[in-house]
Amino acid sequence: MHAHRQSDPVRYEFKDSPAAGETAAIAPGLYWLRMPLPFALTHINLWLIEDGDQWTVVDTGVDMEECRETWDKTFGGCMQDRPAGRVIVTHLHPDHVGNAGWLCERFGAPLWMTRDEYLLARVLVADTGRATPEEGDRFYTAAGFEPEQLDFYHKMFGLFGKYVSELPEAFRRIQDGDRIDIGPRQWEIIVGKGHSPEHACLYCEADNILISGDQLLPTISSNVSVFPTEPDANPLADWLQSLAHMKIRIPSDVLVLPAHGRPFRGAHERLDGLISEHHDGLAKLENLCKEPKRAVDAFPALFKSKIGNNNLIMATGESIAHLNYLLGQDRVTVERDDDGVDWYVRRT
Ligand SMILES: [Zn+2]
Repeated sequence: MHAHRQSDPVRYEFKDSPAAGETAAIAPGLYWLRMPLPFALTHINLWLIEDGDQWTVVDTGVDMEECRETWDKTFGGCMQDRPAGRVIVTHLHPDHVGNAGWLCERFGAPLWMTRDEYLLARVLVADTGRATPEEGDRFYTAAGFEPEQLDFYHKMFGLFGKYVSELPEAFRRIQDGDRIDIGPRQWEIIVGKGHSPEHACLYCEADNILISGDQLLPTISSNVSVFPTEPDANPLADWLQSLAHMKIRIPSDVLVLPAHGRPFRGAHERLDGLISEHHDGLAKLENLCKEPKRAVDAFPALFKSKIGNNNLIMATGESIAHLNYLLGQDRVTVERDDDGVDWYVRRT
């Protein structure tokens, strides 16, 4: 969800982004590849790190022609026809993991990922081509979907695999606290939860740089969603905890290299801004539930933008994430009616 806050004191480090498909140097041996995406989200930032006579690639773009063409151009350009010796993926979303299998296959390179991200990616790829499960219909009916919105969910189900090239059957596990040498730098893995199950950030203490993936973005508040697989999940609690934890792990003047937007400083202020944004949303939502409300009625409390079919699944997942958080704090109760629809009411 895109909630732009003018007041966030984010300080951009570079005046401009590289053009779509181009690279820019961030530091010696560390390059920013602006990968175009054919979606509402127009780009993702990928990172190329010199690693001896090879490259370590961090994140990969979606498995689509536009991205493959950019990679082909980059191999002979910025990468000077030297191979990728390792592919690190921050988390399982298609814009990050999409070309990982393709890159690994092409260079005979290993895939480095956290275990939860790798395993969930394999599960979601396996959904492609399957019929929608009953649990999914029950979940979105409970959220308040109309029949035509359920049809839309059926159409969207299994789309994940369409944007992700076949993943390697084996991977190298990374986890929180790991230290990885890449070229002359050492990078520490910092794991965040809530946007995805075990999102890896890479932090170089010596150069004061954080590759943040989607864990810390300058203008976008990362989507935190509940899905039909785990209807009672409380990812917002994980997310808020991760944001607070991140503040302890990184200094406030760290240079943040985010997956979307531009490199910036002001990490602690931005983390505080994100945390308070969610607490504001929770308070508004609690208030809205003076009268019984469904998950789909919660949108006005959480989003400024209009919710249509294109962002319905994300918005609903995020609404339920906030409602489950309020449930966990005993601030609302929920009751399912005879039509299978959940109604949330404020406790006091
Ligand atoms: Zn993501």
